[in-house]
Amino acid sequence: MTAPLIDPFARRIDYLRVSVTDRCDFRCTYCMAEHMTFLPKKELLTLEELDRMCSAFVRLGVRKLRITGGEPLVRKGIMTFFDGMSRHLGSGLDELTLTTNGSQLDRFAQPLWDAGVRRINVSLDTLDDAKFKAITRWGSLEKVRRGIAAAQAVGMRVKINAVALKGFNEDELFDLLAWCAVEGMDLTFIEVMPMGDMGEVQRLDQYWPLKDLRARLAGRFTLTDLAHRTGGPARYVRVEETGQQVGFITPLTHNFCESCNRVRVTCTGELYMCLGQEDMADLRGPLRASEADGPLEHAIRAAIARKPKGHDFDYSRQAVAGQVTRHMSHTGG
Ligand code: SAM
Ligand code: SF4
Repeated sequence: MTAPLIDPFARRIDYLRVSVTDRCDFRCTYCMAEHMTFLPKKELLTLEELDRMCSAFVRLGVRKLRITGGEPLVRKGIMTFFDGMSRHLGSGLDELTLTTNGSQLDRFAQPLWDAGVRRINVSLDTLDDAKFKAITRWGSLEKVRRGIAAAQAVGMRVKINAVALKGFNEDELFDLLAWCAVEGMDLTFIEVMPMGDMGEVQRLDQYWPLKDLRARLAGRFTLTDLAHRTGGPARYVRVEETGQQVGFITPLTHNFCESCNRVRVTCTGELYMCLGQEDMADLRGPLRASEADGPLEHAIRAAIARKPKGHDFDYSRQAVAGQVTRHMSHTGG
């Protein structure tokens, strides 16, 4: 019997997020510079390596696997990977899911459903075509909406993730909520995080604290705090008037680390024990050094044994402290 992954603070690690590519068909201003240099292909884990690595984590007790990026659905051959992972569902793995910008969902909804994906997160910050184009630089809102419709048509539950951006979508708070109510989708707001160097975009200028967003919601609706937690930085409320569930991801204003159950792997096989810390373990080395999975499992266990207690993000002193240099598209959101 394989011992589960328990970190030094007695947290059980059963949730893995894996970035399968650093590439994307959008260039969201808070995530990427317009002219990004992407990694050479040989640096990325191959689809086979991704399968071996995720399977090792499942053997070590991971029950939920979230695929992200970059945009996971632009990775060539990605369905081979999803189809492979589906063999673990019901025998170790409880949930296989992804976070996507929705641009390719039109094509992928059915094959994803066939691979056992039942719920997805779609990132969408505005319902205005021109603003969508401005924030994603390259995206089409119409295409994303078609993708969401396709996912719902095959039976998937869709949750919308919206980054709260000062002066950008503040005025759409109630429209986003109403749209999600009509479409039967949950909605989660994310506070903008200091990840990577965005070039001309100033991070503090974009920062809209969710405390403020929540207060505005509470001014119009009755919000009831929900006990249910995912082990991550999200807190949930029920909007009594609509019955909707709304989440708030506030890595900067709340300490969620005590219940953290997750780790992340980048598309190059770097295992980050904490989103907000630089410490990582290389898994590509052991994957490529041996066809046996022993060294890989050993590297995973050794890394979990040094998972830190928490992160150091802090905007409170009006300067971005605790900034980590890698981009969200590298670690995976
Ligand atoms: N491309 C996919 C998507 O957009 O859903 C998956 C990867 S994306 C990096 C994952 C999530 O991270 C998205 O919801 C995105 O809005 C969020 N994100 C990216 N940069 C961020 C930042 N600096 N602060 C907060 N959230 C960010
Ligand atoms: Fe691409 Fe997602 Fe980053 Fe936007 S947030 S640029 S869709 S990886």
